[in-house]
Amino acid sequence: MKALVTGGAGFIGSHLCDHLVAHGHSVVALDDLSTGRESNLEQLTGNPSFELVKGSILDKSLVDDVVAECDTVFHLAAAVGVHTIVDKPLESLHINLQGTENVVESAARRRARFMVASTSEVYGKNDADGLSEDADRVLGSPLKSRWSYAAAKGLDELVAYIYGEESGLPCVITRFFNIVGPRQTGRYGMVVPRFVSQAMAGEPITVYGTGDQRRCFGSVFDVVPAVVKLIDTPAAYNRAVNLGGKEEVSIRGLADRVIELTGSPSTVTYVPYEEAYGEGYEDMQRRMPDTSLAQGLIGYEPQRRLNDIIA
Ligand code: NAD
Repeated sequence: MKALVTGGAGFIGSHLCDHLVAHGHSVVALDDLSTGRESNLEQLTGNPSFELVKGSILDKSLVDDVVAECDTVFHLAAAVGVHTIVDKPLESLHINLQGTENVVESAARRRARFMVASTSEVYGKNDADGLSEDADRVLGSPLKSRWSYAAAKGLDELVAYIYGEESGLPCVITRFFNIVGPRQTGRYGMVVPRFVSQAMAGEPITVYGTGDQRRCFGSVFDVVPAVVKLIDTPAAYNRAVNLGGKEEVSIRGLADRVIELTGSPSTVTYVPYEEAYGEGYEDMQRRMPDTSLAQGLIGYEPQRRLNDIIA
C-alpha cells in the first residue's frame, strides 16, 4: 500500500507510520507539528519508504497533492487535548471539520481507501457498561456531545459516511477509547503519561476530581495493527468501530498502580475539576468500550494489560 497518514508526527500517527513501513508499505506523513513532533519520526528519517510533509490539512491543494500519490489515507490529524478544545473551541472545530472535509473529498475523488480517527467522546455523557456502536448513538449526531471536539468528530463521521454511501468511498471510522503508549505526552491532559512523569520525578500525583471516575486504557500497540486490518476488511466499510482496551480502572487506582510499578515515593493529591479545567467542567464517570464488533470483524483481542501499558 502507498499510505498517507495525516497527523503522522503525532502519538498514534507515528506508531502507525512505524507499523506500515515495517510491513513493507510506503508512507507519506502530513503534519503541521502543532502537537506532533518531528522527533517521533526520527527512526524513519532517511528510510526510502517514508516521507514527512510539513503542512496543514487546511491547505486543500497540498492535501490533494499528497492524496494523489497514495491509495490509502489514514486521517488522524486533529486539534486535540482538553485545553486546546476548551480554550479555542471555534479554531479546533474549524480544523477538525474543514480539515477532514479536505482530506475525505480528495480521497473520494482520487479513489483512495479512507480511515478517519474518531473518538469515544461521540458517545457523549454516557456511563453505560460497555459502550457499543449501536447503543444510544446516531452516527454523526452531536446531540449528547460535550465540547466542540466531540461535535466535530461526530460530524466527521457523518461526512465520511456520506462519502462512503454516495461515492462508494471505502471508508472505516475508528472510535478510539483512551489510547496510551510511548510518545504520548502529558502536556495536554493525558492522564497516564502525566502520572508516570510525576511518579518518576517523585512529585505529587495530581488526581482531578474524586478519582472514582473509571477508564479503560488501550495500548497503541494493540490499536495500530487493528486500524490496518480494518482498512483491509470490506465488511468494516462504512461502519464505526470501537477500539480500546479491556481492563477498567479508577483514576485513583491508576495513581496507586503507577506509584507501585515505578517504586516512586510520590503521594496522591486531589485537585477539584474547576481548578484543573475551569468552571463548569464535567467529566464522565465511566468510559468503557464494547469491542465485540472489532472482534467479529478482525478478531480484535487486546494483548496488553494495564501494567504493560504503564511499563
Ligand atoms: P496527537 O496530538 O499526538 O496527534 C494529532 C496530530 O495531528 C499531531 O501530530 C498534530 O501536529 C497533527 N495536526 C493537528 N492539526 C493539524 C493540521 N491542521 N494539519 C496537519 N496536522 C495537524 O494526538 P493522538 O492522540 O495521536 O490522536 C490522533 C487521532 O486520534 C486524533 O484524530 C484524535 O482525535 C484521535 N483520538 C485519539 C485518542 C487517544 O486516546 N489518543 C482517543 C480518541 C481519538
